[in-house]
Amino acid sequence: MNNSMNSRKNAARAERLQRRIDAGFVDKHFPEVASIVINMMYNQKGIQKSLPRIVNFFPSSYALFRVDCLSRGCVDGGFDLTQVITAMIRNHRETAKGDLSCEGGPSHDHSAIVYEVTIQYA
Ligand SMILES: [Zn+2]
Repeated sequence: MNNSMNSRKNAARAERLQRRIDAGFVDKHFPEVASIVINMMYNQKGIQKSLPRIVNFFPSSYALFRVDCLSRGCVDGGFDLTQVITAMIRNHRETAKGDLSCEGGPSHDHSAIVYEVTIQYA
């Protein structure tokens, strides 16, 4: 990895941190939510085996529903489930399924996910 790549990565990391701080906590935005679980399966280009992952959110978690891409060279990519989750909460839905593909640059081994979101209400 060259230096300009590194600094781009560092800038992306700092931006992610700032986004967390800006997002605030789940209980502030969604006081009716007891927990959110993202059950997902990663599929990465060039790798045969799928990788399962579970991400949990609680009232004290940051209300930032972003999941990283598996590609090491991925910049500005990842999966944003914010719209999915806020729509579910608005409609008081408990489960939703779908899939997303990473649209980041500049590497060629970005991943895709199949997800299932489960929300428990207080
Ligand atoms: Zn990616």
